[in-house]
Amino acid sequence: MPEISWELFHHQVAACALCPLHQGVRNKVPGQGDVGAPLMLIGEGPGQVEDEEGLAFVGPAGQLLTRMLAAISLPRDRVYICNIVKCRPPNNRVPTEEEAAACRIHLRMQTALIRPQVIVLLGSTAAKNILGPEIRITRDRGRWFERKGVLFLPTYHPSALLRDPARKREAWEDMQRLRDKLTELNLYPDIYGGTP
Ligand code: SF4
Repeated sequence: MPEISWELFHHQVAACALCPLHQGVRNKVPGQGDVGAPLMLIGEGPGQVEDEEGLAFVGPAGQLLTRMLAAISLPRDRVYICNIVKCRPPNNRVPTEEEAAACRIHLRMQTALIRPQVIVLLGSTAAKNILGPEIRITRDRGRWFERKGVLFLPTYHPSALLRDPARKREAWEDMQRLRDKLTELNLYPDIYGGTP
């Protein structure tokens, strides 16, 4: 395996034709943020605005996500944000299992480069792809899962919160759990001050 690097990652995503989703996209959306962040957030796939701008979570759902992070005093530029697939599925449909599996090579490389200690899984697609098909987002959101020393927290995708604002209360509880865990692990001592 070649030595991994951000240069190689971005080159591989730009050149990728491993699944049909690359056809017709305006821009691929590899993900962006603090490449040294202890916290990574993974969503489903780019939407229309993301496709136009080549950036993850910049449309209405992304703006809500920014506000959710701000509500726990976390500036957006202190985390890394990406998606399961790097190309926009037509009409914002859910990526197929084959598309998600094809794109995993890129997600694995960026996760290996960032080496986050905590990963938030935004929505059912991200949660099922990372934790397993048995995951049910309505049942398992807000629970901590551990895989190979990394902590995972599934929660609702911000798009789901825009469609169904009644879920915002549960999402807020999840964000508080996230803040408590980041504090306990002393991952953002300049923001949360660490454990007493
Ligand atoms: S979605 Fe991922 S695997 Fe499919 S073409 Fe785009 S970058 Fe490649």
